[in-house]
Amino acid sequence: MTKKDAHNETLDVLVVGAGAVGGAIALGAARQGLRVGVLERNAAPQFDPETTPVTRVATLNSASMAFLAELGVREALEQRRAHAFSGMYVWDANGPGHIRFEADALGVPALGWTVELAALESVLWGELEAAGVALYPQTEWKTLDRRPDRVDVYGDHRQPIASARLLVAADGARSHVRDYVGIPFTGHDYDASGVVATITTEHPHQDTAWQRFVEDRIIALLPLADGRCSIVWSQPEWPAAEDTLALDDAAFCAALEQETDGCLGAITATSPRASFPLTARHAKTYHAGRVVLAGDAAHTIHPLAGQGLNLGLADARTLVDGLRGPARHDPGAETVLRAYTRARRPENAFMQRAMDGFKLLFGTQAAGLPELRGLGLRLVDQATPIKRRLALRAFGLD
Ligand SMILES: Cc1cc2nc3c(=O)[nH]c(=O)nc-3n(C[C@H](O)[C@H](O)[C@H](O)COP(=O)(O)OP(=O)(O)OC[C@H]3O[C@@H](n4cnc5c(N)ncnc54)[C@H](O)[C@@H]3O)c2cc1C
Repeated sequence: MTKKDAHNETLDVLVVGAGAVGGAIALGAARQGLRVGVLERNAAPQFDPETTPVTRVATLNSASMAFLAELGVREALEQRRAHAFSGMYVWDANGPGHIRFEADALGVPALGWTVELAALESVLWGELEAAGVALYPQTEWKTLDRRPDRVDVYGDHRQPIASARLLVAADGARSHVRDYVGIPFTGHDYDASGVVATITTEHPHQDTAWQRFVEDRIIALLPLADGRCSIVWSQPEWPAAEDTLALDDAAFCAALEQETDGCLGAITATSPRASFPLTARHAKTYHAGRVVLAGDAAHTIHPLAGQGLNLGLADARTLVDGLRGPARHDPGAETVLRAYTRARRPENAFMQRAMDGFKLLFGTQAAGLPELRGLGLRLVDQATPIKRRLALRAFGLD
């Protein structure tokens, strides 16, 4: 569908935000033959495996990869440096606790995949183009008119952009659409930042994701296809994260080596660093009229278990599945959006509470707690059925 056609007729679905979640929803809807548009304020995402540096990285679980396979983009993603990992090791710096997961022991080919968001977004965008979706890069909407049968979207000076029977807000944690339509959210700041970088280590990463809890900090090393690791180092905003960002490369590598207890030997090189504020937010409802929220626009969680994007892709899958059958006639119908909210909100709330529980459990150093924690982790590590259930849930294998 050309933009001109989209301009003259009402789309079935207009997605605001071409991040991974918005891209997946748009492609899923287009694959069902619905008339779809995507509005993105940035330029079309680009990725070249030869030249694009590693920047934003996320770990995807099996459920997310299965969904991407259904959308027909998994193979292309794997060709863009997605990397399967087979082990995960989590340990506590302040106690004897540790737990190890192995793909072999669970009878699965991989525990997860490290993927670069730029790779995923560009693969989805390419498929959207090929599927004839009306794409609006570098376009920012200014006002919305919410009517009983559609939502009209306007740019500067009330220039009409598009109309759709369902408007999907996949515009990230600071969703302007969510605020515009007045959906309230609850939540809190962690007063912490996630410092991210790409590092080179002395020893191979062994296709394992490493995570160490150190008082109120958490360091995760995620294995990349080129042998390096992407790190997420959560630490209190002030002074720790600020100080960490200000270190020169040598001092940063030395601090990181200490924080990881040298699990992969010396840290020999690092990319430039960036940091992201860590917040927990949850929209009180996921829909208002014909507007629905998905991904970070609906919920954000602590990145300690690498679940944010997995939850967003689960939203995408549920929403897209809900548009089949009779819902095709009106994708923005109240019944469709209520069913989606009912399916996704409790699950996302559960994960948010679980992340906060983990964070509290590992961040508390009261007398005896590290030992108790260690005992608990060791028991789970040895109790094969419990560990298996935990792993199946965490890695999206159930
Ligand atoms: C430090 C850190 C580490 C993380 N690690 C992991 C991990 O290992 N695994 C995992 O699953 N998750 C992880 N996450 C979470 C994950 O990155 C996010 O949940 C996910 O990227 C959200 O995707 P999204 O598509 O919902 O939003 P976004 O990726 O934020 O995309 C939103 C899109 O909307 C566009 N947009 C915004 N406003 C407008 C507008 N007004 N008009 C048009 N377009 C607009 C933006 O340009 C963007 O393209 C991590 C998060 C952090 C902070």
